[in-house]
Amino acid sequence: MSEKSHDKKYIASLDIGTTSIRCFIYDINVNIVGKACANIELLYPQPGYVEINPDELWQKILKTIQNAISDAQLNAIDISCLGISTQRSTFITWDRTTGETFHNFITWKDLRADSMVRKWNDSVTLKLMHGVSHFLYMFTRNKRFLAGSVLKLMNAQTTLRLSWMIQNNKKLQAAIEHKNALFGTLDSWLLYRLRQGNDLDFKPEHISDVTSCSATGFYDPFTLQWAKWALNLFSIKANMLPTVVDNSYNFGHIHRSLLGHEIPIGSSLGDQSASMWGSCCFNTGDIKITLGTGSFLNLNTGSQCPASIYGLYPLVAWRYADKKNTELVYCMEGAANDTGSIIQWAMNFGLFQDPSKSADIANSVDDTEDVYFVPAFSGLGAPINDHQAASGLIGIRPSTKNAHIVRAILESIAFRLTQLYTCTQTETNFKFSVIRVDGGVSKNDFICQLLADLTKLKVERAFDSELSALGAGFLAGLRVGIWNTRDELVKLRKVERVFVPNESVYERSMNKMKNWERAVNRFKGWYQP
Ligand code: ADP
Repeated sequence: MSEKSHDKKYIASLDIGTTSIRCFIYDINVNIVGKACANIELLYPQPGYVEINPDELWQKILKTIQNAISDAQLNAIDISCLGISTQRSTFITWDRTTGETFHNFITWKDLRADSMVRKWNDSVTLKLMHGVSHFLYMFTRNKRFLAGSVLKLMNAQTTLRLSWMIQNNKKLQAAIEHKNALFGTLDSWLLYRLRQGNDLDFKPEHISDVTSCSATGFYDPFTLQWAKWALNLFSIKANMLPTVVDNSYNFGHIHRSLLGHEIPIGSSLGDQSASMWGSCCFNTGDIKITLGTGSFLNLNTGSQCPASIYGLYPLVAWRYADKKNTELVYCMEGAANDTGSIIQWAMNFGLFQDPSKSADIANSVDDTEDVYFVPAFSGLGAPINDHQAASGLIGIRPSTKNAHIVRAILESIAFRLTQLYTCTQTETNFKFSVIRVDGGVSKNDFICQLLADLTKLKVERAFDSELSALGAGFLAGLRVGIWNTRDELVKLRKVERVFVPNESVYERSMNKMKNWERAVNRFKGWYQP
């Protein structure tokens, strides 16, 4: 091939989201020299069930990597390493000997365990755990007990969906009985398949990266072990669980039978950890918000595992070793489940034809004339924590125009993000100066400016909106020596625009937010359990 093939300075980065698989080929300056994308078909076999067929996913993943490499006019031999970013909490189980899967991927959006979740959250057992943890916290001030005192189970976590599968899938039950079942989140299964290739006699080590494990709900980030209380309560056998490894573990390589040549696997991270890397949130106190279909705020809390009483989660942000040290970094995560989903709905409803026009429409009026919107298609997360909340508009008058409603919708997104930020402010002692934003909805100038005004922080918008892929690529490149230090990565980070807080509108914006919170109170608890 061309001189490119001798450089070996190209990185492939795979990002498996909920609805799409994307693969990017980066050069040493993180210019995208090739890319490919495929849609993931979500299956809805019953109301509330959301699955992915593993065989179809596997074929699409391989094809997407191949297409990206071809798009860059390269061959597999030219690729120095692969970085992997995956959606979290989606899981599968399979047979240790044959590799046969016992069911489809059960995604993080799946609600089959909803009644179990509600039952457990109301159970005496959980209340007892809260009581004991609270008692222990009062004496020890150990944050692990503070986290235990407010622990809640959620559909988005893996725990009860796995428990449901163990109770209902006969094949899985038989395999568990014969110690033949393996459990894995998407990263774990993918690493297994990529390393095994077409050599079905080769049984790669059963591993999973620490950030994906940390998001299952039954991995204890404080002790860095699978949580014994959960394994016992939900009959999850330790022998089916993967060994938990660093994000830049010695993963081996993509088997040569798959792409014609081995490609070293340099990193594997959960999507939000990957986008923390893509945003270069390397220092304690660094904060980023990814505004996609939903929004995720992640705050780097350094070596301290945080605990939150407002409903933010303590997670491992990453763990990796370089030649000298092993670094373990934690983060606090808050989610607003509806962001892009609200924009998409507003567009389908006919409020605007193109999301990129929505900021101008909102700015065409001075205010919403006291119309407020509550963005709660999936209930309201921290700090409101009401899963029965309804979405809706309040305050419509005969004079209300389309632009007032569009403005109310965009404001509501910024208000939710400000709430998440305020939680991190209340629950930690960090001094913040900047929020880094990425994701499709971060392209909205109106939302970014209002977020800056309300938080009194600069809001830095990334040039590249594919920060999960970039982050996984960064870590993989460090692993194989394309870069040697994180300072080199920081220099490669590109900011597209900085939104500076406008102090003169702070009070007015805050008053609006307070009124919006009154509207939220009206919409809480609407749906009966
Ligand atoms: P995900 O990775 O969760 O699929 P993305 O980060 O790709 O999401 O963001 C997609 C969302 O961004 C879509 O809902 C789209 O409507 C929204 N979006 C794109 N551009 C804008 C914009 N200028 N203003 C508001 N929303 C936007």
